[in-house]
Amino acid sequence: MKQEDLQALARALVARSAVLRGEVSGKLEQAAVDSSGGRGGTDSGEQSFAASESGIDLAEADRDLKELAAINATLAAIDAGTYGTCVSCGQDVGEARLHAQPLALRCIVCQSRDEQQHGVHHARL
Ligand SMILES: [Zn+2]
Repeated sequence: MKQEDLQALARALVARSAVLRGEVSGKLEQAAVDSSGGRGGTDSGEQSFAASESGIDLAEADRDLKELAAINATLAAIDAGTYGTCVSCGQDVGEARLHAQPLALRCIVCQSRDEQQHGVHHARL
């Protein structure tokens, strides 16, 4: 991938992560307010209580957090010059796959194997 393409991708990811962070903190605050009656200042115990009270918002926040983690990993890979290389086997992830899934850190082979081992389906990664 060309350096200018990588830089454009990195800029887009930084912008996306800022949006996601805003959304996550908004959702977590709302969940805390819902469950605590607005006392604020939650500890981790109260947050897990909030999770059961406001399942939908927290499920969204959880998804955002996972996307944030994927974005951070991708930015780190761009920084390190390893973007586009599978983190598991070291082979090229492939431009077509990266075009479709810019946050993919593994080639399709390793991703499929990982999903089989963990029984998880990352539809978007
Ligand atoms: Zn691989």
